[in-house]
Amino acid sequence: MEIKANDSRLKSWVAVPPHSDFPIQNLPFGIFTTTQTKPRAGVAIGGHVLDLAYLHEHGFLDGLGMPAGIFNQKYLNDFLALGRKKGREVRERVSELLRHDNDKLKSHQVAALVPMEKVQMLLPVRIPNYTDFYSSEEHATNVGTMFRDPKNALLPNWKHLPVGYHGRASSIVVSGTPLHRPKGQTKPADAEFPVFSPTQKLDFELEVAFITCAETTLGSHITTKEAEENIFGLVLFNDWSARDIQTWEYVPLGPFLAKNFGSTISPWIVTLDALEPFRVKGPEQFPHVLPYLSFEGNRNFDIALEVLIQPEKGEATTVSRSNFKYMYWNMAQQLTHHTVNGCNIQVGDMYASGTISGPSPGSYGSLLELTWNGQRPLHLSDGSERKFLLDNDTVIIKGHCDKDGVRIGFGACAGKVLPAL
Ligand code: MN
Repeated sequence: MEIKANDSRLKSWVAVPPHSDFPIQNLPFGIFTTTQTKPRAGVAIGGHVLDLAYLHEHGFLDGLGMPAGIFNQKYLNDFLALGRKKGREVRERVSELLRHDNDKLKSHQVAALVPMEKVQMLLPVRIPNYTDFYSSEEHATNVGTMFRDPKNALLPNWKHLPVGYHGRASSIVVSGTPLHRPKGQTKPADAEFPVFSPTQKLDFELEVAFITCAETTLGSHITTKEAEENIFGLVLFNDWSARDIQTWEYVPLGPFLAKNFGSTISPWIVTLDALEPFRVKGPEQFPHVLPYLSFEGNRNFDIALEVLIQPEKGEATTVSRSNFKYMYWNMAQQLTHHTVNGCNIQVGDMYASGTISGPSPGSYGSLLELTWNGQRPLHLSDGSERKFLLDNDTVIIKGHCDKDGVRIGFGACAGKVLPAL
């Protein structure tokens, strides 16, 4: 698909620092507030946020059929509900207005552009539903090797369907929101009975989540061909996990309190349109999938991912480098499988990939794998060791794409671990 706003030659009259996540080729959507303004929609450009409500009120979006007040809201849901085509049109218009040879918006820049230091980013969508998949073969293999049987690490269903579970939407928070170490039941290996205490094995999970922009009716389904038209964009996602609680609770129905105490997302929704140039072929799928899961074209995306741990008084250390392209099951297959039984989707639903581990130990997407369940501690740059997360550690996930001199990124997905309450 040819999208003008993605042209690598485009330059903006707004200064974009080198290595910024937000050049004119990105233009992700988010919700922000300042001390002067109520929550409203914005687009990131360089070190600024472009105020969409201002653009709308001053006629810069005329002709696009945007309903009154659509950007003057706490969430982007109503905008997303207009569909991907409308989102594409707004992104195209914003791109035109920001181009170096377009003067129209320049005289309004003081009012329309807010420096990022002056904004607080909020949760971009009201999230009706959250699903977490388990779609990285390397992650599933590592976990299966550790907890079951190295020879049969993948369960028999794994290569036939994208395994997933329904998570908790209410506890998803935006980057910068601290979380308390959760408490729960665990059963120490040598104990007869479980104990109740703060988790001793708090972990992160490196994930990417897609957000849907359509409402379907119960009983209908989405095909792999249609799937991406229902996906507005992507955010980085930290699916915090308490491994000791998980080990005790997860059989037979899967994750519950080990996961639902919190998940953190990056604040900017990077559109699938902006990611178009970064499509790549995914891993070969064998055995062949059932016909309803077959697809055409490149459905994976080359997004370099990084996880850093920053102790209370120290520098951040990179502990993992992975890539979204490693996903065995792609988003089109995930959404198709999710709805094949007639399950309806809603605007703002969050669908996380599952932990994204790559082939090498440095590319594993959780401490569980990086330290092999605590057996091989990591060393941070301040000389300290980590088996799992300590109180006051901040976990930062970053992600970016890079091609033809264009680098687009997601902004940080960061969260600090506070002591248990
Ligand atoms: Mn997960």
